[in-house]
Amino acid sequence: MNATTTLYLARKIITMNPQQALARAVAVRDGRILGVGDPESLRGWGPCTTDDRFRDKVLMPGLVEGHSHLLEGGMWDFVYVGYHDRRGPDGCRWAGLKSFDEVVARLKEFESTISDPAQPLLAWGFDPIFFGVERMTTLHLDRVSTRRPVLVMHASAHLMNVNSFTLAHSGIDAATPIDGITRNADGNPSGELQEFAAMFLVFSAVGNLYFDAGQSERGIRNFGRVAQLAGVTTATDLVNDLGEDSIGNLRKVTADPGYPLRLVPALAPLRVLQGDPMARLLEARSHNTDKLHFGLVKLIIDGSIQGFTARLRWPGYYNGSPNGLWLVPPRQLKDIVLAYHRAGLQVHIHTNGDEASEVALDAIEQALAEHPRWDHRHTLQHCQMADAAMFRRMASLGVCVNLFCNHIYYWGDAHYALTMGPDRANRIDAAGTAQRLGVPYAIHSDAPITPIGPLFTAWCAVNRLTSSGRVLGESEKISVADALRAITLGAAYTLKLDHLIGSIEVGKYADFTVLDDDPLAVPAETLKDVPIWGTVLGGRVFEAPKL
Ligand SMILES: [Zn+2]
Repeated sequence: MNATTTLYLARKIITMNPQQALARAVAVRDGRILGVGDPESLRGWGPCTTDDRFRDKVLMPGLVEGHSHLLEGGMWDFVYVGYHDRRGPDGCRWAGLKSFDEVVARLKEFESTISDPAQPLLAWGFDPIFFGVERMTTLHLDRVSTRRPVLVMHASAHLMNVNSFTLAHSGIDAATPIDGITRNADGNPSGELQEFAAMFLVFSAVGNLYFDAGQSERGIRNFGRVAQLAGVTTATDLVNDLGEDSIGNLRKVTADPGYPLRLVPALAPLRVLQGDPMARLLEARSHNTDKLHFGLVKLIIDGSIQGFTARLRWPGYYNGSPNGLWLVPPRQLKDIVLAYHRAGLQVHIHTNGDEASEVALDAIEQALAEHPRWDHRHTLQHCQMADAAMFRRMASLGVCVNLFCNHIYYWGDAHYALTMGPDRANRIDAAGTAQRLGVPYAIHSDAPITPIGPLFTAWCAVNRLTSSGRVLGESEKISVADALRAITLGAAYTLKLDHLIGSIEVGKYADFTVLDDDPLAVPAETLKDVPIWGTVLGGRVFEAPKL
């Protein structure tokens, strides 16, 4: 018997394995779970070191964030101008800004600290939906600077505002023939750019510094820090170009034993401007390790609901806004899905509006008709407006769903009053329906769109409270136990990693989230406040720094 076995004793272990849902001890050897149960039976494995530092803690399977972006790690290089307070990887809290003037004032303050006259000023997290009908224009951002590019990414990352200097520098004017360029009454661009075709004009002139920062070594490390503070042990990066630099940085950072995260980057084919994206993905898979998992494909087919760029079915937007934009035309989507489906790959499709979800299901159905395949686990990401009929289709097609439950809190009031109206807002992110109809589901933050924090996301799915305190859709609430499953085994299933992570079960990686309190025992309204002591990844303990 070797002495490298560690026996962890805890106040309670929530395993997610129904065979023994609760336990008091878990034995770990070689980074994997050797056994779970009572200490006596585990000692049958031979000599071990007993570690009782968790004796008053509660252990869960390591939390899995099935929809996040490395951008979350990169964004902290830039100025946060969001409405809600937000905490960065250094623990610093940035105060939320409650008016356009406050946004402009913070940008001016930072502008005055930049010495290089050519350096662009980048900001993120902005959301005009909280400021009534007024939209940000070049008039606001020209107050910040008329001599350097000023870019303000919206919280959704689907829209951006820029100053006049940036428009001119990017060659965007009244004659530029692109749909997402918002215009003033006189036909000139207002400075708001919707979706990637319009934003791309700016990125090709000044560079996509947001994206580059997220894929940099520093961005990946910051992301790990933010995720670990939230108790996450496995997280996705759902838009990656799998370029040489990006793969190199991912390999380097995840190979560091001190890096506290397993990463699942997904290829976004539309980000690959040269060469064959599928070949890149197949090649990337040869670099897979226990902390780095390539293999997912991510497609984005519509925009954001609160940005009014999502594609909605009849009756459309509650406030009468015109329908949103296709980022991939439906006809082309069928070909793309079929190609990756045929190659045996797993496709995750961003669909915010219900028209987009329907088109995605059509594409998957056609791919399955032409090329039957079992256990494909294609997944609809966000899928915020699906009705029960669509969930029945998902069940019959073997499609998984990952619901954006944080929206209920952050934008639920706006959805009720402006974007969807009461009927559809009450069934937003319908985890209850997914549960009842047997659709495999997860729930997510889409960080940096909202902060990464699976316990908060679980709280949203359980309580369905908006930021003003309204309950959206009583019948779509799920139990705490089901929500905890969605942020562990549920998310692992959508990533085809449920054989390795997601439960505390013999043979799986020894990944735990260590809590100061019992999420199954605290009142459901306080689930988001359960303190996270730290995590264990492959048997290595990572105590979260006390902030
Ligand atoms: Zn996303």
